[in-house]
Amino acid sequence: MFVGHYAAALAGKAIAPKAPLWTYVGAAQLIDIGWSSLVMAGVEKVRFDPDLPGSPLILDHMPWTHSLPAAIAWSLAGLMLARWLLKLPWWTALAVGLVVFSHWATDWLVHRPDLEIWPGGQKVGLGLWNLPGAEKTLEMGLIALTAGCWLWNRGRFGRTAWPALLFLLYLVTLQMIGELSAPTGDAFAFARLGLSVYLVTIAVAWLADRGQNRDEA
Ligand SMILES: [Zn+2]
Repeated sequence: MFVGHYAAALAGKAIAPKAPLWTYVGAAQLIDIGWSSLVMAGVEKVRFDPDLPGSPLILDHMPWTHSLPAAIAWSLAGLMLARWLLKLPWWTALAVGLVVFSHWATDWLVHRPDLEIWPGGQKVGLGLWNLPGAEKTLEMGLIALTAGCWLWNRGRFGRTAWPALLFLLYLVTLQMIGELSAPTGDAFAFARLGLSVYLVTIAVAWLADRGQNRDEA
């Protein structure tokens, strides 16, 4: 699950549009922003096996970002930041927190069991990565569905569709590049690339959704 995480961002934007899109896009990958930073710092670990179906990632150790209690803590942090730093209403801040948590829920669908229910405890994951066709269909289906809701909502506020369509084109391009490129086996370089993509995507979302949030209810 990579681009599919952004489906939750588009859903959040459609349901609680007072937060700018970049906030939701950052929220959807907040846990992986933490993960790539901690992998670069050597605190969390990733290895690669190109023979695995769906994704080459072997995620042995990520208690600070992808255990259930950690995901809840990151979600609460997202909620607080949205409320107190961005001064968003409680309902919208709650939506931001839920989008942060959606990352863990969608990872649970696709990861092979590597998500700890508690640090050091049982690991869970439905392993949809083992069925790459179904996993890709789910990912792109979620994006298409939530993008439809978001575009419909933009229409209600008299906003043009094209910046949203460009953002979608960007996501589809990201997905295709992701499909074609295999990690080199260098965990630090992989995490650094991931972190850059997450940050660039936040900037692209900001560009695609500038202004006009105040009049949206
Ligand atoms: Zn993740």
